[in-house]
Amino acid sequence: MPEAAPGCDEFDPNAKTLEQARTAILEACQRLEELETVALEQALGRTLAEPLAARIDVPPAAVSAMDGYALRATDAAKGARLALVGTSAAGHPWDGELQPGQCVRILTGAVIPDGAELVVMQEQVERDDATILLHNGDLATGHNIRGPGGDTAAGTPLYAAGTTLGAAEIGVLASQGIARVKVLRRPRVAFFSTGDELVPVDQPLGPGQIHDSNRHTLRALLAAYPVEVQDYGVIRDTEDAVREALTRAGATADVIITTGGVSVGDADHVTRVLQASGQVGFWKLAIKPGRPLAFGHFGQAHFFGLPGNPVAVMTTFALLVRPALQQLAGRAATAPQTLNARLLEDLHKTPGRKDFQRAVLETDERGWVVRAAGGQGSHQLRAMSEANAYVVLPRESAGARAGDWVEVLPFREIFPTP
Ligand code: AMP
Ligand code: MG
Repeated sequence: MPEAAPGCDEFDPNAKTLEQARTAILEACQRLEELETVALEQALGRTLAEPLAARIDVPPAAVSAMDGYALRATDAAKGARLALVGTSAAGHPWDGELQPGQCVRILTGAVIPDGAELVVMQEQVERDDATILLHNGDLATGHNIRGPGGDTAAGTPLYAAGTTLGAAEIGVLASQGIARVKVLRRPRVAFFSTGDELVPVDQPLGPGQIHDSNRHTLRALLAAYPVEVQDYGVIRDTEDAVREALTRAGATADVIITTGGVSVGDADHVTRVLQASGQVGFWKLAIKPGRPLAFGHFGQAHFFGLPGNPVAVMTTFALLVRPALQQLAGRAATAPQTLNARLLEDLHKTPGRKDFQRAVLETDERGWVVRAAGGQGSHQLRAMSEANAYVVLPRESAGARAGDWVEVLPFREIFPTP
């Protein structure tokens, strides 16, 4: 690996590494401890605030696992003929007590009648109007019966506080008759775009203007997290406009995310306002894309000033905002899993920053292989949609060659679809 040249433009000894930035952000963004009670319909993705145990047996009674006939174990002899005395269907139990020599027609999920000890599948009998003839005699007590509590017994601990509620957990709680749950409050995330060149999507472009794409990207990224979003729109490049927006957002939000205006240009007012009125560190990050990033506080909110370039927005969100949102919402901010793949073409890089190149990860007969996906400029957002992974090239790397093994960060690890 070539040494990074100390005088090299890309190598800035004051720039923070990704790991340093991540650690500082996770130290600051502790989970919100406020609770709220929500209906099960609103509980998906939320973090449970209290441990839950099973209140009832599921199933509550012994039920049949099959469509068939319920009978006594002593009657389960091959060639036996039994009198058919009734039907037990799901939701409509048969109330009698089964006597020797009798059977009851039973459907899946129906309660096993008193006296019955097993269920024979309907395919294993011959039936006429009033009797059945058993074709199979080798059946033990309990055959095709789901006992009470066979899924979950009353009193069993179900979920610890801190569990993220997914589809299975919500189904289990529903089966327990638990209609409302105590969860952590969702972080409130305010966001806005900055830039005099920005025009909303539904308005035509004038000279020198572009559509505001970052705000739509951000809203889409945020949809994968249990957050409440507050969209402040496009804020003009004046100190007053930026201060006013930050003041409003900082009064109610837990997190503020802005894009643009964090460089050191004349129009970069986010930098100036924060220096004057917030507690903010301006970071040069040793990653590409995403060199300038502001992180700190404004009002009561954590503040993330993301760069303006759209690919840098997605990359810094995935690497640094995502873990913060996870932790604030009470989820574990586990580092995403990378894998190693064989590179199919040369990738160019200058030493100095850890590079996240947009790439297509596939498998061939050799296993994982990876190639570049389109343009690598931080403005070339379309390459993001052609890509499904980043190739991660270390800070000191001067590029990689076709045939090398490289580290790959699949998008599914960091861009979950809601
Ligand atoms: P800035 O950091 O404000 O200088 O912006 C860097 C680049 O990103 C410029 O080319 C901007 O026009 C572009 N940019 C900034 N904000 C947005 C946005 N909301 N949507 C699309 N492009 C943007
Ligand atoms: Mg700008």
